[in-house]
Amino acid sequence: MTDAAIIVAAGRGIRAGVGLPKQWREIAGRSSAARALAAFAEHPEIATCLLVIHPDDVGLAAPLAEACGAQVVHGGADRAASVRAGLEALAGSGVRNVLIHDAARPFVSAALISRVIAALGRAQGAAPGVAVTDALWQGEGRVGAIVPRNGLHRAQTPQGFRLEAILAAHRAHPGGAADDVEVALAAGLEVAIVPGEEDNFKITAPGDFARAARHAESQAGESAMRIGQGHDVHRFTEGDHVILCGVTIPHTRGLDGHSDADVGMHALTDAIYGALADGDIGRHFPPSDPQWRGAASEIFLAHAVQRAAARGLRIGNADVTLICEEPKIGPHAARMAAELGRIAEVEPSCISVKATTSERLGFTGRGEGIAASAVVLLVPR
Ligand code: MG
Repeated sequence: MTDAAIIVAAGRGIRAGVGLPKQWREIAGRSSAARALAAFAEHPEIATCLLVIHPDDVGLAAPLAEACGAQVVHGGADRAASVRAGLEALAGSGVRNVLIHDAARPFVSAALISRVIAALGRAQGAAPGVAVTDALWQGEGRVGAIVPRNGLHRAQTPQGFRLEAILAAHRAHPGGAADDVEVALAAGLEVAIVPGEEDNFKITAPGDFARAARHAESQAGESAMRIGQGHDVHRFTEGDHVILCGVTIPHTRGLDGHSDADVGMHALTDAIYGALADGDIGRHFPPSDPQWRGAASEIFLAHAVQRAAARGLRIGNADVTLICEEPKIGPHAARMAAELGRIAEVEPSCISVKATTSERLGFTGRGEGIAASAVVLLVPR
């Protein structure tokens, strides 16, 4: 997998009205840039994502890029210069194909990304176009001429190319191109047209935000919720306290683990990663990495919650069960739910913490360790 995406988010978007640049304004809780970046970051054929921004937007871009595993690059004076900055950042990286996409197109589908990549197996460039179906007129105030619409397309992004070819084309171009296909054609590259999508529209005018919000809401209604489960075990060792769901409880023994061994918080964190189909704690925080030794598990839970937020999701409710004979959990359960709620930024009433023994059976029954399981429902933010 050696394909990359450049999300161009450096424009100031003055046509779309006052306030934040259009790609950073929220559409049903998530910016257009966040939606566009997530589409590529989640795509199985895209290994590397670059987010090209205006330097003033670092505060908006940095958390988003971190959550999606994207690299931030500062753009230039115009769109072509920003794309060039992204391409130069990829130079010599071994990337084969690069897809260049406007952050103001929030609803690019995985299928469309796949179509562009597939077409790059047959051509030096590939880009989506939507065939023009309306009649076309030329004139000012009155119809001067009918323009034949046969073979005409409305151009969209992502526009995909072999990295080395489009980088050379940008370096040679005098500037002023409307998009990357124009730069590619000037360099003599062949660009295939793949079917575009009406939903992959570009936010340009103020009215486009209302259309985008309607679309986002109908999409949310379809995909909506995700469910996940997590399970974890830590063994007892010497010590005088345990940390369970963020609460320190004095005990005659401690729990062994690379981090603070908070088995309950680990189960909940893995449930969130599970709901996102996004691996597990060990993948995001490898036990082999010494920086997580003794780490507060709050870091893991906050990370998982942030990954969910980057995908437009939050915890709807969660249910955590601790399995042990000792210590007694009941007196601490409400404080545990409050602590998990604080870290996950949801009401404590959305989180249940309960406990059971295993009737003195198995390793938990023999008091060798504590197990925990959790389920979580993620809902649109
Ligand atoms: Mg664990």
